[in-house]
Amino acid sequence: MLSHDEQAAYLDSIERVRQSAVNHLGSNRNVAIEFVANLHRAVDKVTRQSAGSGAQTECRPGCACCCSVRVEATEPEIFRIAREVKKLPADRVAAIVERLRNFAAATDGAGRTDCAFLKDHLCSIYEVRPAVCRRAHSLSEESCKHFAPEIPQNLEILLQADALMKGTSEAYRQVGLHASAHELGSAVLQALTDETIEARWHDGEAVFPKDCG
Ligand code: SF4
Ligand code: SF4
Repeated sequence: MLSHDEQAAYLDSIERVRQSAVNHLGSNRNVAIEFVANLHRAVDKVTRQSAGSGAQTECRPGCACCCSVRVEATEPEIFRIAREVKKLPADRVAAIVERLRNFAAATDGAGRTDCAFLKDHLCSIYEVRPAVCRRAHSLSEESCKHFAPEIPQNLEILLQADALMKGTSEAYRQVGLHASAHELGSAVLQALTDETIEARWHDGEAVFPKDCG
């Protein structure tokens, strides 16, 4: 439970992020997909800085129980990932599409299934992974391994990252671009297989169905 002052500071952070993002996005919607990289850098900075003080996170490369929960991403994040995938050779893109189709067939996105982008216990889209994955951390690897209902986390990281994510999504919506949470695998599959989807999103269309997120 946040104190009154903490709640006020949190809301103030959202507002500052929203205003700054609107200033950038409003003058150039053409870079709306690239712009989400700023959110990713900011969330990375929060997790790095907070991890250096107070209770230490136990996250490390190769520890990936957290990559089997439902993962959600916003429209610009989904298109950022799809753009990166499309830079790969055609056979690798086809393999990823196949993997995403199998993932969609194997899960409704609600149970625990390894993320389609998890390969050899590492994230295969690490540089462009969504903000929720960058924010994810744990103060107890044991709790993660045993799928504990509550994972101990650093409240400072959660609040700062949430403010960045909420403020950024609000800014997108304010300039007429949809930005809400969608199940990662099925949304990226759509982005990779529908040639018109990115342009339609830029035109203000809600391109992902409700049951996608
Ligand atoms: S959140 Fe848990 S499972 Fe994920 S890397 Fe950190 S300690 Fe490992
Ligand atoms: S996108 Fe990467 S970090 Fe996020 S759940 Fe999937 S494999 Fe894990």
